[in-house]
Amino acid sequence: MATSRRDYYELLGVSRTADEAEIKKAFRRLARTLHPDVSQEPDAEERFREVVEAYEVLSKRETRELYDRYGHDGLRGGGFTPTSFALGSLADLFGAFFGDDLFGMSQARSARGGDIAAQIEIELAEAATGTTRSVPFPVTVPCVTCAGSGAKPGTEPVACATCDGRGRLQQVTRTLLGEMVRSQPCPACNGSGRVVEHPCLDCDGSGRTVEERTLEVQVPPGIHDGQQIRISGEGHAGALGGRAGDVYVQVRVKPHPRLVREGNDLFCTVDLTMTEAALGTTVKIPTLDGEQELQLEPGTQPGRLHVLRGKGMPVLQGFGRGDQRVLVNVQVPRRLNEEQRRLLEDFEQSASEETYEADEGFFQKLKSAFR
Ligand SMILES: [Zn+2]
Ligand SMILES: [Zn+2]
Repeated sequence: MATSRRDYYELLGVSRTADEAEIKKAFRRLARTLHPDVSQEPDAEERFREVVEAYEVLSKRETRELYDRYGHDGLRGGGFTPTSFALGSLADLFGAFFGDDLFGMSQARSARGGDIAAQIEIELAEAATGTTRSVPFPVTVPCVTCAGSGAKPGTEPVACATCDGRGRLQQVTRTLLGEMVRSQPCPACNGSGRVVEHPCLDCDGSGRTVEERTLEVQVPPGIHDGQQIRISGEGHAGALGGRAGDVYVQVRVKPHPRLVREGNDLFCTVDLTMTEAALGTTVKIPTLDGEQELQLEPGTQPGRLHVLRGKGMPVLQGFGRGDQRVLVNVQVPRRLNEEQRRLLEDFEQSASEETYEADEGFFQKLKSAFR
């Protein structure tokens, strides 16, 4: 983390003789205006980090003394590195710097709304082209009557008596390691710090009501069975201004009666009779675009594989398509009548090795069918 070269007193806007309380106050004021949650300035995050660093140095006696005497170089010589921190919410940050509740920020601890799960079912052909579905679901929204406060219009929620409006209860216990302060959400007000004395009649004081909503869900081409589409911010309303949850729509792709999907490829089989295979024929095969004719030459062997390039599923959020593979199965008669038996016996008499001469082994073809 880069260390600021700017004067820390200047950054906080305090004099070199400022006491601890003044420094805290200045930092608190600056952090509240500069925090990227609040500030729209493009360099807000950078300035905020500088201010945090200045506060870190000036709020501790040792580092402040080092800085007063030797400046930035003195700090680095003394092994000081600014704490690196993830830029969380302002409340979390104050919590981390000052311990729980020093500035009463966590009074308004807001909770993110719950997520909603929904499910839709589509056909394989729709999975190939992409589709749109209307998904109805009940969602919790802020109550319009009380603007989410839960208090009857004309009244205000009051500070919770149990926690004095802090939203959290602290418990100090003595341990071998010294005093431990444990803090937990106040059960009387669920951590909100406020209680509603006169509840809004439309939401029973919860500040939230249930609404039926419909979302138009865009299903992208190539989606796989069981995949989820996340629609951010359309879930249940958050408590006390927290952001809304998300909607997760799980997509089920109905099995096709004749096409089996393997990744982005499609697979089907075609049954020929023994004589069709020997004489050659034209068959209808299922594809995503409906039935298609496929010509099979005389002498088609069982296990013969036809690959229809680019006839498979599109690649999800990518380019190109898979293939469709058609595997030939040859049916051998199971029951023969007298005449059929005689005909086949005659045929067998007249057949020679040449009749069955192969150019590629059956096993090779079967192997290539499964790649
Ligand atoms: Zn209400
Ligand atoms: Zn309380």
